[in-house]
Amino acid sequence: MNYFVDNKGYYGEFGGAYIPEMLYPNIAELQAQYKAIMAEDSFQKEFNQLLKDYVGRPSPLYLAKNLSAKIGAQIYLKREDLNHTGAHKINNTIGQILLAERLGKTRIIAETGAGQHGVATATVCALRGLTCEVYMGEVDMARQAPNVARMKMLGAKVIPASSGSKTLKDATNEAMRDWINNPENTHYIIGSVVGPHPYPDLVAKFQRIISTETKLQLKGQTGRENPQFVIACVGGGSNAMGMFYDFIPNEEVQLIAVEAAGLGLNSGKSAATTALGKMGVLHGSKSILMQTEDGQVIEPHSISAGLDYPGIGPQHAHLFATGRAQYTAITDADAMQAGIELAQLEGIIPAIESAHALAQLHKMSFSKEDVVVVCLSGRGDKDMETYMNYLKD
Ligand SMILES: *Cc1c(COP(=O)(O)O)cnc(C)c1O
Repeated sequence: MNYFVDNKGYYGEFGGAYIPEMLYPNIAELQAQYKAIMAEDSFQKEFNQLLKDYVGRPSPLYLAKNLSAKIGAQIYLKREDLNHTGAHKINNTIGQILLAERLGKTRIIAETGAGQHGVATATVCALRGLTCEVYMGEVDMARQAPNVARMKMLGAKVIPASSGSKTLKDATNEAMRDWINNPENTHYIIGSVVGPHPYPDLVAKFQRIISTETKLQLKGQTGRENPQFVIACVGGGSNAMGMFYDFIPNEEVQLIAVEAAGLGLNSGKSAATTALGKMGVLHGSKSILMQTEDGQVIEPHSISAGLDYPGIGPQHAHLFATGRAQYTAITDADAMQAGIELAQLEGIIPAIESAHALAQLHKMSFSKEDVVVVCLSGRGDKDMETYMNYLKD
């Protein structure tokens, strides 16, 4: 069974590049060049150097003893929350800015929902001196004002997307439109393992460092490089794909992807794509997405802005369809409890996205010797207002 991209840009029946004709030149250029550029020694050297000196990698693999005692297993946390800018997203934006430079691009565009990917993109544009414009839904700009301020301070221009529901999906549409109009000088940095081929593959390869480091660290700490379980949350799926990547060929490692059940699977307010969705095309690839009978995208809901997406990347759809990974969903309430639990047991305040992965620990049964790795995709500073409102009532 092949779980990785084939030479046509597909993962089983998912993937591909379903794009308007006007985007062909941009996508064809990327498809033709990304593998060769990423394989260059000078590229790998610069990428790894920046991950080390600028991002602060390797991120620690931390045995959470108090949480382990409570759950009854050996729980290791992969600390992506300690990266510069506070999450895994910077791994991808560092990789893509180096790719853009080698393609001769001088202008960067991106979409953002909660603003985390926008901040990670504005950060690398400041670092490399490239022009940066970030599309963001008007509604999101209002509810994520601190991240709008960060992007502006970093020198980026934030462009409000005022169509549709004025959120992430609409920002993505407007970024694609911009790219069509500026094919020569512009690279579009997509923030997850979604979009037309080759984005799902190249983003996964930039995030792969998470699992590569984990294997080495586990070997050093336990003598074995493979755990029994690996758990990560899924919005579009980039931290999960990075956390799974090097474990995918080891079939004895159980991979568990956690989506957002929002107010509950049957509430009409969730983002549990694999539980509720079916095959369809969104943002340039064939995958699984939440849609009505006649194929209209259903507005997702999650208390965490980073999981509030109606689809998943095509490689996840394939891992789901083949059964190589298991997909579950955690409610807003269970995630909030798990976030507070980690803060009080371990002194670590997780992003609410990551708290979904932590909550999954309470839904499983383990034996004491089981080694479990949870991807702590980001830190909770950005979520303090939501946590405070929750603690109040
Ligand atoms: C954006 C984000 C996510 C969700 O995105 P993926 O592509 O699914 O990883 C998860 N956790 C944090 C902290 C995020 O910022």
